[in-house]
Amino acid sequence: MEWMFGTSGIRGIYGKDITPELALRLANAFAETDVCIGRDTRGSGVPLAFAAMSGVLSSGHDGIGLGIAPTPLVAFASMKYGCGGLMVTASHNPAEYNGLKFMRKGREISRAEEKRVLERHGGGMGYGASPGERRREDVIPEYMELVKKNVDTELIAKKKPKVVVDCNGAGALVTPYLLRELGCKVVSLNCETRGFNRPSEPNKENLSWLSSAVRSCGADFGIAHDGDADRCAIVDERGELLNADVQLALMVGEELARKKGKIISSVESSLIVKETVEGNGGRFVLTPVGSVHVSEEMEKSGAVFGGEPAGEYVFRGGVLVPDGVMAAAKYVELFCGKGKLSVLASRFKTNPMAREKFKTADRVRAMEKIAGTLKLEGKRETGDGIRIDGDGYWVLVRASGTESIIRLTAEAKTKELLDKVCSKAREAIRNAV
Ligand code: MG
Repeated sequence: MEWMFGTSGIRGIYGKDITPELALRLANAFAETDVCIGRDTRGSGVPLAFAAMSGVLSSGHDGIGLGIAPTPLVAFASMKYGCGGLMVTASHNPAEYNGLKFMRKGREISRAEEKRVLERHGGGMGYGASPGERRREDVIPEYMELVKKNVDTELIAKKKPKVVVDCNGAGALVTPYLLRELGCKVVSLNCETRGFNRPSEPNKENLSWLSSAVRSCGADFGIAHDGDADRCAIVDERGELLNADVQLALMVGEELARKKGKIISSVESSLIVKETVEGNGGRFVLTPVGSVHVSEEMEKSGAVFGGEPAGEYVFRGGVLVPDGVMAAAKYVELFCGKGKLSVLASRFKTNPMAREKFKTADRVRAMEKIAGTLKLEGKRETGDGIRIDGDGYWVLVRASGTESIIRLTAEAKTKELLDKVCSKAREAIRNAV
């Protein structure tokens, strides 16, 4: 078998790793209850979603077809109907990729349930009498109502900001309409729902059209999603993409102003985010890398907000998967309350960072050795690699999930301090790989 569960469902090249046959069998294995099915705008999503629907219906459970829908909307539907959710997407990966994300009751399924899906898949197709396919047209408006409950609609309606929205995928069916209903003047870019107009990942290189559109329209700012709209990237009024850590820190500040409590982020989270949490009376809690861990910890600890610097944010009042659409509405609110995003962003000072990688024959043994020899002052976390948070710096030593590599990531207030902690970490890693 060529495929396996990654950090977020399964992904691969369409026609090679990911086929309609696989979608049929996996959806059948997953369907122990009714399942709602959505997809992003990739062409290969159509045969995959029909195959997945067939897999669900042949199991004897009800399939709820959502058509093109953002991942957070499929999560919302699975919460509303108390059923499974299946999203056909390869998220920010290129157009030739596709995949499946499995959800249940508003969140991604656990490792234990992934194992169960694999076991049932191994046992072959299960058959039952199908009650028939349903289509639900009411999910988008109900989801929009949920988002509206989480922002200050009066403030936005009064300010009427001008926003360019670059969806390039499933967000096109929700975000521009939602922002218009909130009172924004919306300029839509790449909002067709056939394929992609730019690569899916909302990074600087891929957002040059958005940047120039924001400038030429004189917009207040710009918003971009990835193909399944669980991510949200922000471009300020000058057309500059916000630094990912600064973007996350801005949202952390907003959410803590709303309610004090725990903020969940992964071990790759920066000093800017940590200082924003602590400076605003919150408690900073770290999880392993991956939104599924952030969501799990949020649910367990009752935290007020969770996010990763990739533009993936989980909101207390929403679903327990990253929600790029709600994030878009929250940035609109932030702009209306606080003003120009370039000015807000300039208040954060980014620090020097180091990212290095070291080849190794045995990742597990190397990490065990490093655990004994890496000695740096500070609070030590070992949930996913080794992270040490010291005075004015943090260091993360972590084995790659897919390659025979140990990664060193570090950030410090000054270049001198960064060099000092990196040379200590480097020595421990070199002696172990
Ligand atoms: Mg995504």
